[in-house]
Amino acid sequence: MERKEPGNALRQERSGHFALIKVGINGFGTIGRRVADAVKKQDDMELVGVTKTKPDYKSMVAEKKGIPMYAVDVKSLETFRAAGVNVKGVLNDLLQRVDVIVDAAPEDTGAFNKPIYQQASVKAVFQGGAGDNLADASFVAQCNFEEAIGKRTVQVVSCNTTGLCRTISTIDRAVGVTKARAVLARRATDPDDVKKGPIDAVVLDPTTLPSHHGPDVQAVLKGLNIVTMAFKVPTTHMHLHSLILSLRKPATREDLVAALGAAPRIQLVDGKSGYKSTAAIIDWARDLGRPRNDVYEATVWKDSVSIVDGEAYMFMAVHQEAIVVPENIDAIRALYGGYIREESMKLTDTSLGIVHR
Ligand code: NAD
Repeated sequence: MERKEPGNALRQERSGHFALIKVGINGFGTIGRRVADAVKKQDDMELVGVTKTKPDYKSMVAEKKGIPMYAVDVKSLETFRAAGVNVKGVLNDLLQRVDVIVDAAPEDTGAFNKPIYQQASVKAVFQGGAGDNLADASFVAQCNFEEAIGKRTVQVVSCNTTGLCRTISTIDRAVGVTKARAVLARRATDPDDVKKGPIDAVVLDPTTLPSHHGPDVQAVLKGLNIVTMAFKVPTTHMHLHSLILSLRKPATREDLVAALGAAPRIQLVDGKSGYKSTAAIIDWARDLGRPRNDVYEATVWKDSVSIVDGEAYMFMAVHQEAIVVPENIDAIRALYGGYIREESMKLTDTSLGIVHR
């Protein structure tokens, strides 16, 4: 297959053809399945395969979509064979066939998987929960795409950290941010995860300050003064942030709304139009026909944006299952090389139906 010309990038050429970036996904759960579908939508990428631990309805759907499947290891290969399900090999076979692997395996497995990728000389994109200090750079496309270029590994920061980085960097560029404080009401778990709670409690997450989000933001927005605190609430579909920013320069709420409205991957909604809860945001995405009702944009309530005593206040919602999907696609291009930020983000946004700014 020949890759379509993506635009003005400094592209790599192989044998006179624009080579497709060969991508594998290790871990086919909430994030892995979404990134796999997003990779399939890119004209400059080929989804070589995904790994699964065992045959189940998710592997049946993958088969139906024509996604090549690999077992995570020899033991799981036997499970597939015993069930009569066709897999192309194990993770190591997949690694021989790809340029970039996206690690979407469960939390805290990055330290185990990283040497496997290194041994196969394959560049790797890790997710926020994979582990601490794993990768050569933390990554949010609109903040530091350039930092990932030429690296062997990057870590797409967590869903909440991605939302915070997008919003705070936008206000910082517009009027300067001297201090950020955020209180996060976190969804308890993902919709398909029946094992976790709470179903009747608000759980401090953790009881101490700061939550991990503040230090994670600082790995991208270096030097930012930020404190975060978080708790879990019994919902599955979104996180909600109460965000307070001390500003370097005097600004009006209109200045901030204009900056947020012009920024990539941030959308503004308001209560007057019926957006009075996170459920309404998900309903909007469902009505629009977004796959799996995915909201890729950090969603800020325009009517919540206020200036009080020189400080900015706002509410922001983050769809945990979806917000990191465009970042993963851009991280693949940054690691592979030959792209500039603007071009990669435009390709990604256009393919996913995000309004590109
Ligand atoms: P998940 O549990 O939904 O999916 C993980 C998948 O990996 C499962 O299908 C599991 O069977 C499979 N798996 C198990 N052991 C494996 C192994 N050894 N090798 C490969 N695959 C294996 O997890 P998730 O929610 O998709 O999270 C993946 C990563 O993304 C974590 O680091 C998480 O912190 C991060 N993340 C999750 C969310 C979210 O809201 N779900 C948001 C942002 C980032």
